[in-house]
Amino acid sequence: MDNCLFCRIVKKEIPSSIVYEDDLILGFKDIQPQAPVHVLLIPKVHISSMNEIKEEHGKIIAHLTSVIPQVAEKMGIKDSGYRVVLNCGKDAGQTVFHLHYHILGGKTLETQFG
Ligand code: AMP
Ligand code: ZN
Repeated sequence: MDNCLFCRIVKKEIPSSIVYEDDLILGFKDIQPQAPVHVLLIPKVHISSMNEIKEEHGKIIAHLTSVIPQVAEKMGIKDSGYRVVLNCGKDAGQTVFHLHYHILGGKTLETQFG
């Protein structure tokens, strides 16, 4: 999608600090980190939110999810622990409408959910 920020990051039209990449997914550092480690992990294909996930996305979602521990290991937080967040829609505070997991760690995180 031409007007999607994360699609433009996938196409390298907008620079990002990439920490993981393969044919299907991209991981890069959040521009406004909420923790010492804050990585966004996204499918390269445009899926606008959790609400748009269909059965046919099963393989990509499984892959995206299975790469999380690899990213955590690379960022040095696999053993200390980390949080995975996926915001869907207005009330969750989703601001970029291209599906993304937040991977947060590197400190003891707040336990409050909202
Ligand atoms: P969400 O609020 O769940 O939609 O998260 C969107 C995230 O994207 C926020 O944490 C932003 O800081 C992050 N973000 C926005 N623009 C960029 C960018 N150009 N590079 C990296 N992260 C970004
Ligand atoms: Zn997109």
